[in-house]
Amino acid sequence: MTTAKDNANVDNTNASVSGRKSNNHMNVAAEILADHPNCSLSEPCDGLSISLARHIHYELCRDEHDKHELFNALALSVKEQMLENWRQTRLKDNQYPQKQIAYLSLEFLMGRALGNALLSLDMTEEAQKILTEYSTNLEDMEQVEHDAGLGNGGLGRLAACFLDSCASLDLPVTGYGIRYQYGMFVQKIIDGYQVERPDRWLRNGNPWEVRISNHSVSVPFYGHTETHVNKPGNRHHVWVNTQNVLAIPYDMPIPGFKNKRINTLRLWKAEANDEFDLSEFNEGDYTEAVATKNLAEQITMVLYPNDASVNGKELRLKQQYFLSSASLQDLLARYVRKFGKDFSQFSTYNVMQLNDTHPSIAVPELMRLLLDQYGLGWDEAWKITTQCMAYTNHTLLPEALERWSVPMMKNMLPRIVEIILEINARFLEVVAHKWPEDIQKLTEMSIIEEGGEQHIRMAYLAIVASFSVNGVAGLHTQLLKEGLFNNFYQLWPNKFNNKTNGVTPRRWLAFCNPKLASLISRQLGDKWINDLSLLTGLNAFINDKAFVKDWAQIKYENKQALTKFVKQQCGVEFDPKMMFDVQVKRIHEYKRQLLNILHVIHLYRRILNGDTQNIAPRCVLIGGKAAPGYAMAKQIIKLANNVAHMINSDPKVTPYLRMAFLPNYNVSAMEKICPGTDLSEQISTAGKEASGTGNMKFMMNGALTIGTLDGANIEMLEEVGKENFFLFGLDASQVSQTRINYNPQQIIEQSKALSGVMNMLKSGHFNLEEPGIFDHIINSIVDPHDQWMTAADFDSYCLTQDLVAKTYLDQDSWQQMSIKNTAASGRFSSDNTIAGYRDEIWMKK
Ligand SMILES: *Cc1c(COP(=O)(O)O)cnc(C)c1O
Repeated sequence: MTTAKDNANVDNTNASVSGRKSNNHMNVAAEILADHPNCSLSEPCDGLSISLARHIHYELCRDEHDKHELFNALALSVKEQMLENWRQTRLKDNQYPQKQIAYLSLEFLMGRALGNALLSLDMTEEAQKILTEYSTNLEDMEQVEHDAGLGNGGLGRLAACFLDSCASLDLPVTGYGIRYQYGMFVQKIIDGYQVERPDRWLRNGNPWEVRISNHSVSVPFYGHTETHVNKPGNRHHVWVNTQNVLAIPYDMPIPGFKNKRINTLRLWKAEANDEFDLSEFNEGDYTEAVATKNLAEQITMVLYPNDASVNGKELRLKQQYFLSSASLQDLLARYVRKFGKDFSQFSTYNVMQLNDTHPSIAVPELMRLLLDQYGLGWDEAWKITTQCMAYTNHTLLPEALERWSVPMMKNMLPRIVEIILEINARFLEVVAHKWPEDIQKLTEMSIIEEGGEQHIRMAYLAIVASFSVNGVAGLHTQLLKEGLFNNFYQLWPNKFNNKTNGVTPRRWLAFCNPKLASLISRQLGDKWINDLSLLTGLNAFINDKAFVKDWAQIKYENKQALTKFVKQQCGVEFDPKMMFDVQVKRIHEYKRQLLNILHVIHLYRRILNGDTQNIAPRCVLIGGKAAPGYAMAKQIIKLANNVAHMINSDPKVTPYLRMAFLPNYNVSAMEKICPGTDLSEQISTAGKEASGTGNMKFMMNGALTIGTLDGANIEMLEEVGKENFFLFGLDASQVSQTRINYNPQQIIEQSKALSGVMNMLKSGHFNLEEPGIFDHIINSIVDPHDQWMTAADFDSYCLTQDLVAKTYLDQDSWQQMSIKNTAASGRFSSDNTIAGYRDEIWMKK
């Protein structure tokens, strides 16, 4: 298999390479079209080559155009290659031969689409050849594409991996999300500090999307409710005087891997509804009225950049309701087109997977549509709702559990609040039946949290209405059942199940690491791309010297490429002969980038003290965005930058240690990082990381992991064996135990290494010009209430890092362990995860 990067170094600057007379794109296109006046079987008019020539010749009006225009023409032609199969997929699915799945998510962290689409369509080589004619190459074209950064981190990237796996497993799954005009912010580092800049990903247009105006729906807000009695005992609720916002769908194609299925990611954009704004509110003031259109369009303006925390902003609730209502109206309209208004089959043919509680307002919204719009009775509507909804929980962190103020929601969505209260009243009867006379159970389990202002507990709403509740790794699901959701587990044990996360092997191995992919295919054939369990076949070659050498050589070349990238992005010189030790992920205290930095300072001190024996020279890379309002996370970024600066500017240190903070970590950065990583840092406080998926991408690409017994690390260790995994630190139950009497001051005093590091930090060594800026960080480490227990794991972490160094110095065993890690990564294909969702949730009888 060859892919873009194999041929990246072909020199295409000379037009004569292509055999064309001209190196002007327009002229090349004209020549190609002239060569094919009637097209032919071997080069049909709708093939990629002629399609591209046509887009360039007829749609770009001027003779000179920039790389964005050329990219757009290319992407439009690649999309054209999908249109017929996209239509066929839609026609087939509209016949409802089987259940349809709607994956509802406020985030889809898609990254770039070009390379992945070509891989799925098996057109990579063809595209490379065609671009030669235009004196450019595929790799350059791929770099032009803006990441679709419509997500924060793991949760949004999971949704993107799932869409890829669903299409590749030939499943009728539609992703529903929001077309944010501004995705995840662009992170700049200025004087070591994070600065946020808007992500204008749509500024050169989005060639992949198709606006489907005639599938627009209207989403109501505000107004009030009225109750009408049409016949005795039959009350009918109406929500009136609403302000309606139009939801316009933009569809993106999701190609399955070489199987002709093209699924859809449907992203909603908010637009003003002309009648309302212009007539009712602003009579007489035309220009003001037009200006207020912005209020509607604000709903889909920007992604909230909080990972693993909530901010309770009204606009965020609007986004959640907007997505949920628009998507459900869409699903109901589709169903009605086929079955009419007989909803008895609805739950046979529809299931909605809620990606966290963000879209859980879909529960009362489905009830509202069935009750108020289609006239069903409560019991019938509730039966349908509870047969369709499935909920995935992503976190145990209390700051990430969504609770919405009842007065706020009453004002914005009065009918929805009425329905939630009714759901709760009926649910509390079930609780009272199970635990008679237990008032505390009622308070604990109520969907409405009392005490001060009332709040709606969105997770409870989701659990009550769902037939399936899943966690995202074994430990996480176990902790949900024992802790956070224990009452609900006692009430409904059968709802709870585990679906360990995964990542797509197309993007995260075949596409991002073409050299390793072709080495693997050389040994095993290429079936592994669809069945990652076949990678265990690599174990047969760990004693094959030539193979191990090739394996090591590819890692080295990937490290050379990463060295270039780091130089470009950070201005720091890495050396591919040193160990590449990488931690990239959102910056959060629970992920403990701080523990990593403390270890770097420890190594730095050892080097300054001349204690360089057994140090394996290493380059430490840290990258990730902090939520803009998360002060501690931002200080950790500043500390990483300052420590890096001190290390890199001391020539006594750089032979042993170098460090860089990579700005603007995103999907396309990870595609370069994970193939070139030796050591993957997965060092969260045990019990806090629900699963992690970065850990899996590194493992697939042959990195070794240093990690705690947390999230999916536990299952990775199970697969690869503890002799091939660098385990350290307290486990989840030890963390809970230690917390009771936690005394970090004493731990520091008893550790020579940690007290040395703490003294160096306190001395202001890393912030001579900005005294005091790290006090908050220093205090957090010595605080007995430090939730993340950084001091508790420090010594164990350093000892294990010493073992990492020792192992790295023995390259033969390191490379064998690397092969074993890739070989054992098959379980973490999202194909595997999605097969679980399919068999145990979506299609379960
Ligand atoms: C995989 C991925 C993540 C998730 O990383 P974790 O280490 O699991 O937190 C976040 N952001 C991007 C861009 C990713 O590709």
